[in-house]
Amino acid sequence: MATCRFCKSPDKKLIKAHIIPRSIFKLVKKDKNYSVYFEAKKKGVRREFKQAGLYDENTLCAECEARFSKWDTHGGAVICKPRGEADLYLDPHGIACGYHLKDADYELLMMFFLAVLWRASVSTLKFFRQVRLGAHEERILQILKDGGPVPDTYAAILIQSSTATLSRHDTTVLARSN
Ligand SMILES: [Zn+2]
Repeated sequence: MATCRFCKSPDKKLIKAHIIPRSIFKLVKKDKNYSVYFEAKKKGVRREFKQAGLYDENTLCAECEARFSKWDTHGGAVICKPRGEADLYLDPHGIACGYHLKDADYELLMMFFLAVLWRASVSTLKFFRQVRLGAHEERILQILKDGGPVPDTYAAILIQSSTATLSRHDTTVLARSN
């Protein structure tokens, strides 16, 4: 029994909560049964094989974890969808300068990003130890508890690794389109 970082109730049974949703982990491991976790240190690189991604058993109770589900589902769907020429955003000169994520709901997607960021910040896993939000941790917790809206204080930029054909427009600035 421990204290849930979301509802702050003591004596809660905490569950294995993913920081980054499983759907995105699947994207990383592709058709393999595992992904490889690398930890680089001065004395060398340690490798660990992960079948279920990274989860933390010290942050969330089951009720609170369930509150993240619609943001995680939407975020996973948008991030995992392959993008191609049909999704390109062209400027008035016809130059491709990003992707237009027509299937993305700005508010839901931003809530997803804040949810991942907040979970990483409260995580006890070594992998996320550099993610510390300071005063923003409580502010973002409140936005998550309220279910939004996301204030314009928080913005997002999506970057994907380049491929040969799309190397010219591999950065997407996330902005409301309606
Ligand atoms: Zn809780």
